Amino acid sequence: MNLPVKKCKQCQSILYTSKYHCTTCFSDELELTEIDGKGTIYSYTKIHAAPKQFADQAPYYVILVHLDEGLKVTGRFTGDNVQIDTPVELDEIKDRAYFFNAQNNK
Ligand SMILES: [Zn+2]
Repeated sequence: MNLPVKKCKQCQSILYTSKYHCTTCFSDELELTEIDGKGTIYSYTKIHAAPKQFADQAPYYVILVHLDEGLKVTGRFTGDNVQIDTPVELDEIKDRAYFFNAQNNK
């Protein structure tokens, strides 16, 4: 699944959708686009004491994913075996949260 991003029309940098200026060349000529939602787990943490609305889902993993196209995004890991450098793929975007699963679980 693809992931929405902004791309700088001047220098082609890939940026988070929340950005209004390019962090490389400061241009405000950004366009909405999508990149491939594949990457690897850069870091992770296990949430035992979850906020009230997620309490019934705990414990769960929050991962930092280094996307193949350059950005790092946080998301939830829905697979079983969380490990640094595991190849993951974006599965679902729900309530503006990214849900990733291991690529070999496809
Ligand atoms: Zn730029």
